[in-house]
Amino acid sequence: MILVTKPTAVPVTLRRTGQAADNRNRQDYDADPQAYIRNTKEFTIKPSIYNYSTIKKTLKTAQHSKCCFCEKEQKDEYGAVEHYRPKAGFQLLDKSEDLRKPGYYWLGYAWRNLYFVCGPCNTIKGNLFPLVGEATRARSHHDDEAQEDPYLLDPVGPKDPRDHIVFDSEFVRGVSDYGRRTISICGLDRDGLNEKRKKLISDIDFYVVVLATKADNSAAVVQRALAFLTECRNPRAEFSAAAADYLALFPRAILDQIGS
Ligand SMILES: [Zn+2]
Repeated sequence: MILVTKPTAVPVTLRRTGQAADNRNRQDYDADPQAYIRNTKEFTIKPSIYNYSTIKKTLKTAQHSKCCFCEKEQKDEYGAVEHYRPKAGFQLLDKSEDLRKPGYYWLGYAWRNLYFVCGPCNTIKGNLFPLVGEATRARSHHDDEAQEDPYLLDPVGPKDPRDHIVFDSEFVRGVSDYGRRTISICGLDRDGLNEKRKKLISDIDFYVVVLATKADNSAAVVQRALAFLTECRNPRAEFSAAAADYLALFPRAILDQIGS
């Protein structure tokens, strides 16, 4: 997981259609708050608005076609527009808990709450959204969610995921409660990711050997090794955080060649 930079301009669909739908939801809540707290009424948050093609495309482009949590490439996969704070209800520890209602309905169409995610991270995360202190939890649009301290790292910060989640070869490790809980909430240690990161580590090993034995290799092969080892740490690259942590372990003589 790495920091994501989203365009500051809010997509027009959210500014117009989303804003109008959000206003209706806020008015409905204020007309009968208890109905939404007791779950006798539910909000409608329309995927046709927050999942609109241009919104998904804008997020996907900003995130270099990668999931905001696991950094898996989604170029050939659909992915989804996901709400960081769950729109319909939330759970604290376990997906078997009853959903606590209402969710963050007032962020259903909020640009700051939307990300592009892969299918497995989306499914595993579900509605889990634990906080360091429950007393600060925003329960309606009259509260300020900025007062919350969520365990799930927000891809735009302010906490840098790289300060909380590190990689030992292909294996992910939390170095704070935020990191450990984010790994658990999104399943960032799942086998499918470990296998793909293992392949990346193997490729890095291969190209490092090429650089270490330059005299035995053609100029074209050495160039390919330099390009690969430079690009794999770029935020554009799949699993760039794992690559950066692994490459940092190599001797200075290798790192100097790739501009580290
Ligand atoms: Zn993912």
